[in-house]
Amino acid sequence: MNIDEIFDFTSFNIDREPHIVLDPNVCVGCDSRGCTNCCPARCYTYNEEEQKMTFVHDGCLECGTCYVVCELKAFTRWGYPKGGYGVAYRMT
Ligand code: SF4
Repeated sequence: MNIDEIFDFTSFNIDREPHIVLDPNVCVGCDSRGCTNCCPARCYTYNEEEQKMTFVHDGCLECGTCYVVCELKAFTRWGYPKGGYGVAYRMT
């Protein structure tokens, strides 16, 4: 099973208040931007022309990868969704 197939078995209860918040100004000064390559849900997009990082929390799989790979810890908030919100895996 690959990551794309996992999405067929997941559902989300999305909280309007994001559980991860970035300071996009910090991202401009980052050389690697590992989040754009490592996030399995592709929540991070960097526009080189506009020098702008965009983050969308809706599809977050709560894996924690972005927290580990972010060299500059560009988060003003990083946490898991409140109870009852976020991803629900339905593998069985
Ligand atoms: Fe992407 Fe995982 Fe970070 Fe969620 S926790 S934004 S899925 S890397």
